[in-house]
Amino acid sequence: MLYIGCHLSSSDGFLAMGKTALALGANTFQFFTRNPRGSKAKAIDSADAAAFRALAAEHGFGTIVAHAPYTINPCSKDQHTREFARMTMADDLQRMEYIPGNVYNFHPGSHTGQGVETGIAQIAETLNAILTPDIRTTVLLETMAGKGSEVGSRFEELREILDRVTLGDKMGVCLDTCHVSDAGYDIAGDIDGVLTEFDKIIGLHRLRAVHLNDSLNPVGAHKDRHAPIGEGYLGIDAFRRLVSHPALQGLPMVLETPNDLPGYAEEIALLRRLHGEQ
Ligand code: FE
Ligand code: FE
Ligand code: ZN
Repeated sequence: MLYIGCHLSSSDGFLAMGKTALALGANTFQFFTRNPRGSKAKAIDSADAAAFRALAAEHGFGTIVAHAPYTINPCSKDQHTREFARMTMADDLQRMEYIPGNVYNFHPGSHTGQGVETGIAQIAETLNAILTPDIRTTVLLETMAGKGSEVGSRFEELREILDRVTLGDKMGVCLDTCHVSDAGYDIAGDIDGVLTEFDKIIGLHRLRAVHLNDSLNPVGAHKDRHAPIGEGYLGIDAFRRLVSHPALQGLPMVLETPNDLPGYAEEIALLRRLHGEQ
């Protein structure tokens, strides 16, 4: 089963996102837990969350992906910035309990000159402060492009963070195809090699979601500029292999390409064709 969807605006609530996803031919989606500025989030409407859960069950949705605001930074050199990230993520995890069993993805952060090791320690510290045994959400570290002082562009760095988290069974990884390529992993040319490396360093059982993005830049560029599927350096054949790869079956695959909703509908249809569906 291919669980494919795209990033959607959360402004009208869960049920509206679920209906939009269905209209686009999607059976999963991603949304920001709050606006990217990371300010106060709207209260969750429990009736809306319940209506969405029923819709998702009725239509066989896969796991859906909540994305933390990309502006938070759990490993900033500024202590207030780190505290803000921790408070935001803790609050998001409370809110995720309205849609249990899904995933919450975040960018590990940028060490802002402190060095990768300090960054890794602070990210793990944040996770250890917010994870509790009762949460029903899996928290995902996103693979990063390695722009600026970003932590998490190397599989080894993600592994180090995971190793330091006490409640490790609450953790997983989201693989972003543009980011891993930009980080230097040739996912377009050698998907088996990259997934074998992922398995060796992190473990494929940790892989819980995929971001499907082409890249405007070649392998190792460290730029993080997404392109529509087939219009970047990864190319259409890479996505055919990705959606059909045995190691990735059943994972939510989410588009974050520069697109409007009709464009997403076309990309979803394209990926379904590449997967061998009608
Ligand atoms: Fe992201
Ligand atoms: Fe991404
Ligand atoms: Zn990106």
